[in-house]
Amino acid sequence: MIYKRSSELFSQAEKVIPGGVNSPVRAFKAVGGTPIFVKEAKGAYLYDEDGNQLIDYINSWGPMLLGHAFEPVVKAVVDKAKKGTSFGMPTEIETEIAELAVSMVPNIDKIRFVNSGTEACMSAIRLARGYTGKDKIIKFAGCYHGHSDSFLIQAGSGAVTFGTPNSPGVTEGTAKDTLLARYNDIKNVEQLIEANKGDIACVILEPVAGNMGCIPPKDGFLQALRNLCDVHNILLIFDEVMTGFRLAKGGAQELFNIAADIVCFGKVIGGGLPVGAFAARNEIMNHLAPLGPVYQAGTLSGNPLAMAAGLAMLTAINEDEELFLRLEEKTTYLYKGIDKVLTDADIKHTINQVGSMVSVHFSSEKVKDFDTAALGNNDRFKNFFHGLLNEGIYIAPSAFETWFITDALTYKDLDDTIAAVKKVAKSLD
Ligand SMILES: *Cc1c(COP(=O)(O)O)cnc(C)c1O
Repeated sequence: MIYKRSSELFSQAEKVIPGGVNSPVRAFKAVGGTPIFVKEAKGAYLYDEDGNQLIDYINSWGPMLLGHAFEPVVKAVVDKAKKGTSFGMPTEIETEIAELAVSMVPNIDKIRFVNSGTEACMSAIRLARGYTGKDKIIKFAGCYHGHSDSFLIQAGSGAVTFGTPNSPGVTEGTAKDTLLARYNDIKNVEQLIEANKGDIACVILEPVAGNMGCIPPKDGFLQALRNLCDVHNILLIFDEVMTGFRLAKGGAQELFNIAADIVCFGKVIGGGLPVGAFAARNEIMNHLAPLGPVYQAGTLSGNPLAMAAGLAMLTAINEDEELFLRLEEKTTYLYKGIDKVLTDADIKHTINQVGSMVSVHFSSEKVKDFDTAALGNNDRFKNFFHGLLNEGIYIAPSAFETWFITDALTYKDLDDTIAAVKKVAKSLD
C-alpha cells in the first residue's frame, strides 16, 4: 500500500503539533513508521488520505460500537447543530439521556456528564475522597483511567508503550496517595488495605482490563473486591469507560452481577463525540456541587451536540435485543479463526476475549496481569501490525491494546481478516 500523502501530512503536522498527534497512542512510536491520516469512514471501514480502504479494529478506541458515521447519530448531531451548539444553560436532552442511562445501568440513581473519560475518573475519585473523608486510592498496574495526575502510575497502554509509566510533572505528593496493586491478585489488595488501614477512599479498576490488552477478571476477583470494600468502608469504582454499553446494556456490573459504588463512562456513551460521565446512588451523588460540597464543573459539559450523539447511540443499543449476542458471536468467530491460523503456523500466542473485546499476545503464557502482558514478543507484534496494515487491516499500533469489534463488521470482513492473518503469519519468523 502507498502512504505518500499520509507521510506528507504527518511531516506537516509534526511542525505544529507535538509528535504530530493530539494523543500519543495515535503515533506509531511502538511499531515504527508514520501514522495513517484518515479522510473519512463508514461502517467498518476507514478511507485514508492515500485512497486506501482499511477494515477498522480500533473504532476510535471504542466508541464506534455500531460502525462509523452511524446514520441515527449523524442525523441527531446535524439536526441539533442547526439549533445552536452550546448554551451553558440546562437543556431537556440532558435529562433524556440521563434517564435512559440510569434505566440501562444497574445500581445508579444519578449521572453527571463531563467531556472525557479522564474527567469522569478524575471526578469520581474526588467524589470518593469527599464522601469518605479519606485520601488514598488503590489502582491496578496496567489499568488506565485517563491522564489525570493521580492515575499516571503504571497506567497501561499509552504510558507503557512509551516507557514512561511515571510521568514527569506528577508530584511525589500526588503519587504517594496512589497505591498500586496487581490485577487479579486479591491477596495483594488485602495487604495494601491492611498496611494503610483507615486511609483508603476507593479502589478503582477496569472490571475487564482493556488497556494492557484484554484481561478478564479471574472468577471471584470482583466479588472479593466488593467484599473487601464493604468490610473496610471503601468505595468500589468501576471504570467502565471502555466496557460500559459495550459488554452489556448495563456494562460489566450487569455482566458479572457485581454492584459498584461509582461507575465511570466514556467512549460508547458519546457515540463518537467528546463525552464522559460518572454515576452512583443518590447518597453518593448528592455530595456533588451544587447539592453538596464536592466541586465539579464544565463549561461544555452536557453539550447539546454531544448529548444528541450519545442519546442516539444509547437508544440504538437499548432497542436492539440481539446486539450483544451478535457482537460476541462475531468476536468469537474472529478469535477462533485467528487462533487456528496462528496455531497452524506454529506461532506462540495467547488470545483473550470478553464479549466484543479481544487481544492477541505473542507469548504462550496465560495473560492475566500487567507482568504477563509485558512478556509478549514485541518485534513479532511490529511485524504483525505492519503485515496486517499492508493487507488493509487496521489494528492498534501497540501490543498493549484491545481490538474493538464493531457490529458493522460482516462475516466476510472477518474471513478477510483471518485470511490476512494467515498470510502475515507465514512471514512472522
Ligand atoms: C479511554 C479510557 C479512559 C480515558 O478516557 P478519555 O476519553 O481518553 O479521557 C479512562 N478509562 C478507561 C478504562 C479507558 O479505556
